[in-house]
Amino acid sequence: MPKLKMPANLPDPIINENAKIVLKRRYQKKDAEGIVYETTKELFWRVASAIAEEEGKYKNSSCKPASLARDFYDLMTSYRFLPNSPTLMNAGTDIGQLAACFVLPVEDDIEGIFDAVKHAAMIHKSGGGTGFSFSRLRAKDSVVGSTGGVASGPLSFLKIFNCATEQIKQGGTRRGANMGILRVDHPDIMEFIKAKERDGDLNNFNLSIALTETFMKAVEKKEDYDLVAPNSGETVGTLNAREVFNILVQKAWESGDPGIVFLDRINRDNPTPKLGEIESTNPCGEQPLLPYEACNLGSINLGKCYAKGRNGKDSEVDWDELKRIVHLSVRFLDNVIDASQYPLEQITRMVETNRKIGLGVMGWADLLYQLKIPYNSQTAVDLAERVMKFVHDESRSASKILAAERGAFPAYPESTFGEANLGPYRNATTTTIAPTGTLSIIGGCSSGVEPLFALSFVRNVMDNDKLVETNPFFEQAVKDVDAYSGKLMEEIAKVGSIRKMDHLPEELRKIFVTSMDIEPIWHLKMQAAFQKFTDNAVSKTVNLPASATKEDIWDIYWKAYEYGCKGVTVYRDGSKTSQVLCTGDGD
Ligand code: ADP
Repeated sequence: MPKLKMPANLPDPIINENAKIVLKRRYQKKDAEGIVYETTKELFWRVASAIAEEEGKYKNSSCKPASLARDFYDLMTSYRFLPNSPTLMNAGTDIGQLAACFVLPVEDDIEGIFDAVKHAAMIHKSGGGTGFSFSRLRAKDSVVGSTGGVASGPLSFLKIFNCATEQIKQGGTRRGANMGILRVDHPDIMEFIKAKERDGDLNNFNLSIALTETFMKAVEKKEDYDLVAPNSGETVGTLNAREVFNILVQKAWESGDPGIVFLDRINRDNPTPKLGEIESTNPCGEQPLLPYEACNLGSINLGKCYAKGRNGKDSEVDWDELKRIVHLSVRFLDNVIDASQYPLEQITRMVETNRKIGLGVMGWADLLYQLKIPYNSQTAVDLAERVMKFVHDESRSASKILAAERGAFPAYPESTFGEANLGPYRNATTTTIAPTGTLSIIGGCSSGVEPLFALSFVRNVMDNDKLVETNPFFEQAVKDVDAYSGKLMEEIAKVGSIRKMDHLPEELRKIFVTSMDIEPIWHLKMQAAFQKFTDNAVSKTVNLPASATKEDIWDIYWKAYEYGCKGVTVYRDGSKTSQVLCTGDGD
């Protein structure tokens, strides 16, 4: 429990209505009867003070814990930055597990497989999500040496992980999330591609196929590629790469699954290849990690980094403010590593060796709305690069300052940084762009780097609560052009978008675009722009109308490869029965 005393003059946080529901249900502490006893002020102070207290153990620190706790409190309650959900839930409590992302190895033997099931259960209980590669498991029907029987293959075990997840509701609030990855050259790849073709199958898993450079070249040349048995390393068959790619596209068109990750590209950016190869990511794909590695994330709300130009007219990004926030956030996230207790000794060791953090951004669409820049424009893509380069450069410089105060991450000498003599850093990675599914509700901002799903919509959260939301920047802009009326808002809530509302000024319709108004190519260009300056990966969904064709998805998957993305996820409207976001009355 935190020792720093709450200052008497600490202001109460201002919390929007939707955030109140989410905080109460998931984040504020409850007693044995389920009665909430923690106020939101106590919640944010609990987190701020627990993370700031870590500062005390660093003799050369330039900050004092008490004043840092106040800075962290202000940072979070002004919604300029929020750490990932497990930090908000568990910091300063007995659980103390603060990271959102984990990757666990799945070894090719029964003991190893069930160890992984158990470890995943422990992580889910503490609010983390787990990613696994099933690529090391021998193929279905291959021989099991010890028994002389035949192996049941990755898919059958995947079902066990899924079932175990189903039974562990995380602290009674959120169900666990998993990523399952299989290399495209695994003999069971076709079965894996089709694993989620029936709605509801493997519902606790996102699936991604790990595509290799060799495979992508074979798709391009319409050639065959080899399937390799993971246990023996022998080639056991061939498939036509383009046919596999076509089926992959077909399945993604039907249900959104599987996504794809470019494995060689991920490993090209692995900062510590001597510690192992990266074979999986966390559940939403934005955080590639080594086996047994964990990472804590945090997101800066760019919507709060808007400044009116000095002439009072031209608007700009508030770079000074953004720099201040980045530096404070990096210190926060590095302290989270020390404050966190991990469920396994191996994880503690890996995390302390690499000290990865994932600082990202949210509220990007909100910033564009304020700057009056359409999301689907080259101006927006160019600004995305500029903003993310700035965040990335400043996060590295903050990590360097921390290294001077506290020492470099222990694997630094053998890392790619050390070998290139880039100077010591405190963290092997500093940037990741997360989906910010719940953080964006708490922060009252647009999520991650996504365009708005709708200007006004009904959000389904946490199984059955429905929340109505209208974007505040849109509301203001409509008032500014004197077009505001309750009737108009009702009309918009039904369809989400104003694209077809000819009676509204054209400029308004150009700026206030929503994800469905945006051509897929702009989704991808935006993802690639942010990826260019992100150490880890970018969570981004290319949202498509129900009318999108398989060719559209083929094109998106291929362009994601060409543009240098680390993976891609598509979602065609209506292709799953239960959607997280929906327009209309939300039934
Ligand atoms: P939040 O906004 O709650 O902090 P995000 O939507 O940004 O979370 O997701 C970030 C990461 O947190 C995911 O990639 C995943 O690793 C983890 N995560 C998200 N939702 C869940 C969940 N329901 N169960 C377990 N882990 C989750």
